[in-house]
Amino acid sequence: SGSSKGAAMVTAVAQRVTARRHQSLSSFRLSRDQLRSVKARMRAGLEAGLKSNSHSPVKMLPSYVFRTPDGTECGKYLALDLGGTNFRVLLVKIRSGLRRSVRLYNKLYPIPLEIMQGTGEELFDHIVHCISDFLDYVGMKKARLPLGFTFSFPCLWKMFLKKRFSWTKGFKATDCEGNDVVDMLREAIKRRNEFDVDIVAIVNDTVGTMMSCAYEDPQCEIGLIAGTGSNVCYMEELRNIEKNGLGEMQRMCINTEWGGLGEDGCLDDIITEYDNAVDRESINHGRQRFEKLTSGLYLGEVVRQVLLDLTRRGLLFKGRVTEALKTPGIFETKYLSQIESDRLALLQVRSILQHLGLDSTCDDSIIVKEVCGAVSRRAAQLCGAGMAAVVDKIRENRGLDQLNITVGVDGTLYKLHPHFSTVLQETVVALAPQCYVTYLLSEEGSGRGAALITAVARRDQVEM
Ligand code: BGC
Ligand code: MG
Repeated sequence: SGSSKGAAMVTAVAQRVTARRHQSLSSFRLSRDQLRSVKARMRAGLEAGLKSNSHSPVKMLPSYVFRTPDGTECGKYLALDLGGTNFRVLLVKIRSGLRRSVRLYNKLYPIPLEIMQGTGEELFDHIVHCISDFLDYVGMKKARLPLGFTFSFPCLWKMFLKKRFSWTKGFKATDCEGNDVVDMLREAIKRRNEFDVDIVAIVNDTVGTMMSCAYEDPQCEIGLIAGTGSNVCYMEELRNIEKNGLGEMQRMCINTEWGGLGEDGCLDDIITEYDNAVDRESINHGRQRFEKLTSGLYLGEVVRQVLLDLTRRGLLFKGRVTEALKTPGIFETKYLSQIESDRLALLQVRSILQHLGLDSTCDDSIIVKEVCGAVSRRAAQLCGAGMAAVVDKIRENRGLDQLNITVGVDGTLYKLHPHFSTVLQETVVALAPQCYVTYLLSEEGSGRGAALITAVARRDQVEM
């Protein structure tokens, strides 16, 4: 009859639509073999970066942190945390012995976009303005406190100081890259001429996270950030570090800057047209390709590119490309995390989309959820493949059949997303079966870590 023929046609159309949608999403699916191969490419990246004079996309920067804390650290420290979701200034009090503890006082200072992407002088003046406000707040303007600066960017050290760095993520302040961060901070403090500090250490956030977790668990020798950006550090044997030039120590923490993997094209086979669109529209085109597949700042953009494509092809939002959909950055990590929460009814997904200015049907909300799932699952798997490379390298370094190790972790994606951490961990189990990895969430890792590193550095007298 006519009506059943009509129903069959509707079903056929629906099937074709579903098939087309699945085709778009299948480009995000990675087989076990592909993940194994990503692990191998990460391993090759780590090895290449350790060679001196190499310009490897995975930079493998020495941190000059030779050991994790042992509980004997103490003192009062000022800490700065720049480069994550928020800028913070902290006062950290560390006690040793029986009253062993770390206490923190901190204040958040949002950095306006025009300062993030303005001039370096403006940025550092702003930072110093915040420090000044904070010192007033805690009533310590007169004390010349030792300062540890968690600076979450690739930064090449000569010992602890003289740091040439480059920007990543949303930062692009001019006249800074290649300069010394310490000089820039010192000069800004001098310009303001209101207080003085003793800049002891510049620390990557991964290293801060590792140190902060190692204070609780001595097995912690890896730091992972899965947040706005993506990066890992770990304790490497000094004999493997060609660029060190230091004698008697055994190990040094290496900031891998793994987000750079793929800058030489080695990930092109898994990179999709959507990823390329995100890269083209980013402020650091061609760089940080692994980070752009795995971190919070970019996942929402990848999702938006897929939604744009599905909409243009008439498979979503009634084919209407709205202003909201054309707005970069609307899908912040927190929305992805909410949309993917299993506890959330589809109606609530629709209300989130509504809040973002996207009118959706029930079908639309299912599709959006599928897209978010595909993109974040791939991100977690890729991080897991990277982590598998790191733990297996450490295991081989130490000539072990089995490695027990703890990873200190921080970052909004890892902490807030409902599935990211599980998928990452499952991938590590599958790809590095000889390693038993424990994950320890860092609390206030950057601030505590910066203070602990400052304390360790002063004790070991390797500061300048
Ligand atoms: C930076 C790293 C940092 C990571 C996490 C990346 O963009 O290059 O230095 O550790 O983000 O914040
Ligand atoms: Mg942070």
